[in-house]
Amino acid sequence: MSAKFCIGRRRFLTAAGAATAALALPVVARAQRTAAIDVAVIGAGGAGLSAAKELLAAGLKVEVLEARERIGGRAYTDTSSVGEPWDRGCSWLHASAVNPFVAYARANRFEVFPDRYPQRIYEGSQPMSEAATAGLRALRERMAAEVAAAGRRGLDVPAEAAMTLATRQDPWYPVAAAGLTAWEGVEPSNFSALDSFHFDDSGEDLLIPKGYGTLLGHYARDVEVRLRTPVSRLRWGGPGVSLETPAGAVSARAVIVAVPSAVIAQGALVFSPYLPAEVLEAHHHLPLGLMNKVALRFKKDVFPTESSEIVRQRHEDLRGMTYITNLWGERVCVGASAGAFAHELEAAGEQAALDFALGELVGMFGSDVRKHVDKGAATAWSSDPFSRGAYSHCLPGRFGAREILTRPLAGRIVFAGEHTEQSAYGTLHGAHLSGLRAARQVLDLLRRG
Ligand SMILES: Cc1cc2nc3c(=O)[nH]c(=O)nc-3n(C[C@H](O)[C@H](O)[C@H](O)COP(=O)(O)OP(=O)(O)OC[C@H]3O[C@@H](n4cnc5c(N)ncnc54)[C@H](O)[C@@H]3O)c2cc1C
Repeated sequence: MSAKFCIGRRRFLTAAGAATAALALPVVARAQRTAAIDVAVIGAGGAGLSAAKELLAAGLKVEVLEARERIGGRAYTDTSSVGEPWDRGCSWLHASAVNPFVAYARANRFEVFPDRYPQRIYEGSQPMSEAATAGLRALRERMAAEVAAAGRRGLDVPAEAAMTLATRQDPWYPVAAAGLTAWEGVEPSNFSALDSFHFDDSGEDLLIPKGYGTLLGHYARDVEVRLRTPVSRLRWGGPGVSLETPAGAVSARAVIVAVPSAVIAQGALVFSPYLPAEVLEAHHHLPLGLMNKVALRFKKDVFPTESSEIVRQRHEDLRGMTYITNLWGERVCVGASAGAFAHELEAAGEQAALDFALGELVGMFGSDVRKHVDKGAATAWSSDPFSRGAYSHCLPGRFGAREILTRPLAGRIVFAGEHTEQSAYGTLHGAHLSGLRAARQVLDLLRRG
């Protein structure tokens, strides 16, 4: 998993061209539903939309129920807040050799290209020397190799415990470990080395100027979705399933549950009868870590170089963000925080996150940055009731939880979502692959039963 160790694993991008927001799909506002539905899909993120698209293509009657007023879930290209489009959630097409969205983007004339932004690392306000940067890179590679070696041996231990004492005592360890924290959304003491070893990162990361959320919206443009329809309870005691929503109950022969693991673990979607302990536990064992982003737009170009990735870390307290400056040549800078620090900033509020980012940029590039700031926006994925975090990680000692969630339940409930996709968890293409898998399973179940 060496590529994932680079700090910019989940870089954040915005679009230069006119992007169509992912929300542009038709809203299906039907008050009453009487006709029998074959499959209900809960959640119109990457997983739910992909599942629905497959089932519709197979000729099934499908109803997609989405809590928010838009589709896309954690794949969302924001076209309004700072006047330029930027991805509030996913933005990199990871693992391009095994990511189906790469071929889809190319076939549909979306520009995608390798992420080769020059990376500049700052310790406080000082750029790190070439020699120090090379040392840091070597340390990251060593960490990756040590975690992978533990995974290869089947050790389901915290990633941090998989590293040698020499690595952990390296003075640059905290800074290098921040890259891992960005990748998983939690510090290396909290996620399983074995789980991360099973991620397939074949192929370099690609960027998509129109936005990854926009691409998903294009892929799912023919899928009708009932927006503003949160499902609060899923009844599966009788034949088929019945879903409680504010607009009344929706019945179907089978259901694909494509909501984040935390929505179920935290009881926002309740099952009656309760889920079997093993299934409920698996949701708890795959909590969502955190990454948040800020987008800042400037009235004039305030950065000394072309687009680049700036990593700022402070040894003493590890509070720091990673920035992409001058995205797509626009006067926009997008920064990201991860792990415990992201929680701290989110709790402090949007303005505090923007102030922190501005303070760091001023420290590195001078007070002009503050003078020319125009607009800003920040995400808060953890307090969003329909995501409750950014992406899943597997707790140490709980490897296998993802596989449990790929097993159909009672011949009519199938789970989907990035958290269920072992080789591509935490990504949009993982969500997509899980949706395809869930659709195949439901087709099979309905055919048999
Ligand atoms: C800041 C950030 C950066 C990221 N960076 C990258 C990246 O660069 N590359 C990458 O590949 N991935 C990245 N990811 C991860 C990626 O966005 C997710 O893995 C993926 O979008 C998840 O898709 P999903 O369908 O599993 O879940 P979601 O997209 O969360 O979809 C679930 C849907 O269910 C809905 N829902 C929730 N509860 C209910 C309910 N009770 N009733 C009805 N509907 C409900 C939600 O509103 C949502 O639309 C990032 C995520 C974040 C937050």
